[in-house]
Amino acid sequence: MTTRVVVLGAGFGGLELATEVAGRCGTGVELTLIDQAEGFVFGFSKLDVMFGRRRPEQVLHRYAAMVSPSVRFINAAVTSIDPAARHVETTRGPFDADILVVALGADLHPEATPGLVEGGNEFYTVAGAVRARDVLDKFEGGKVVVAVTSTPFKCPPAPSETALLVHEFLLDRGLRDRSEISLVMPLGTPIPPSPKASEAVLAAFKERGITWHPERLVRELDPDRRVALLGDGSELPYDLFLGVPQHRAPQVVADSGLAVDGWVPVNSLTLETSFPQVYAVGDVTSVGTPKAGVFAEGQAAVAAARIIATIKGQDPEALYDGHGICYLEFGHDEVARVGVTFLAGKPPVGDLEGPSPELAADKTAFGIDRIRRWFGHEWTLD
Ligand SMILES: Cc1cc2nc3c(=O)[nH]c(=O)nc-3n(C[C@H](O)[C@H](O)[C@H](O)COP(=O)(O)OP(=O)(O)OC[C@H]3O[C@@H](n4cnc5c(N)ncnc54)[C@H](O)[C@@H]3O)c2cc1C
Repeated sequence: MTTRVVVLGAGFGGLELATEVAGRCGTGVELTLIDQAEGFVFGFSKLDVMFGRRRPEQVLHRYAAMVSPSVRFINAAVTSIDPAARHVETTRGPFDADILVVALGADLHPEATPGLVEGGNEFYTVAGAVRARDVLDKFEGGKVVVAVTSTPFKCPPAPSETALLVHEFLLDRGLRDRSEISLVMPLGTPIPPSPKASEAVLAAFKERGITWHPERLVRELDPDRRVALLGDGSELPYDLFLGVPQHRAPQVVADSGLAVDGWVPVNSLTLETSFPQVYAVGDVTSVGTPKAGVFAEGQAAVAAARIIATIKGQDPEALYDGHGICYLEFGHDEVARVGVTFLAGKPPVGDLEGPSPELAADKTAFGIDRIRRWFGHEWTLD
């Protein structure tokens, strides 16, 4: 008997899960992977685009170039999900699943923050990163504010990395002396699970003269007065505003009955939703880890192992351990590695290695390895 596995979303989580299940189940599975985008882009590649280190086409991994014969890729938007029936409607027709996986990530809503679209730049989408790159290119120095506008948000270290990379960018262009950089973050420390990593980041801010505004959010921009209005009632003037926009589960997930309080609750060990044979992994869930690719990938690996066991008629045993490794850019080719573990009911823990140029090479290898595994070809920068 062939089991029909339908995976919604070909991001970090969906690609990992589809690769594992299709690769290990052979003819026992018919794996369909559905995504509306043209291709996959690593989150960290958006920083490379914004700071002019890569062109957008160099970081886009087109789904059309995916060579795995065991994955049937459908380029379509998912328009409705019936988790009880495991039935999905898309712009390219309906799909029924024996096992359904929801890996649709988080949608971004810059328009939800008053003034952000008119008076600032979001840099969490490729289009936003391209616009921010063009604005940075013409920037002649002044007050730069990097800020988060709501929680939860993807990759909690990314705004800190952005502030450090803005410093590098301005220094290299001879603009640092006439600029100020401020970072507004909802967190109390840059990397809460790792005091060592937080210490290193705060020391880097101090050394580079970056002003750190913890436990605050920017709620609104006043584009006429060029000020950011913070949740605590204070104001920050800016010449250049780089903002992390509001995140929400895709509307199709909100409409499906899968979400509670905005995100999909799952069993934190098995990634099962409350619907039989329906899993959810990654940013779309409220599993308790930060919204980051490494966690989406780790969750996908566990869900994949459980699905493979089910298909093979075995008892699923794999359990999620909440562990992930994040790379942290300090600028000028220095990257740190932070290992963190989030276990339900326990405080998260984390360590720190680096920063060093060797770890910058490690980060590059991390991306190359994923593209080889998921797409079956090398990541070339042509
Ligand atoms: C600037 C930045 C830097 C980052 N740096 C890092 C980092 O260094 N390390 C790290 O681990 N993470 C990082 N991240 C976070 C990381 O990119 C995400 O957390 C990760 O991609 C989440 O994986 P996912 O599979 O849950 O969702 P995604 O990778 O977002 O995939 C979701 C997929 O679903 C598709 N989709 C959504 N709705 C529909 C629909 N209705 N129909 C069809 N398809 C749909 C989307 O097109 C997308 O391909 C960063 C993010 C940003 C923005």
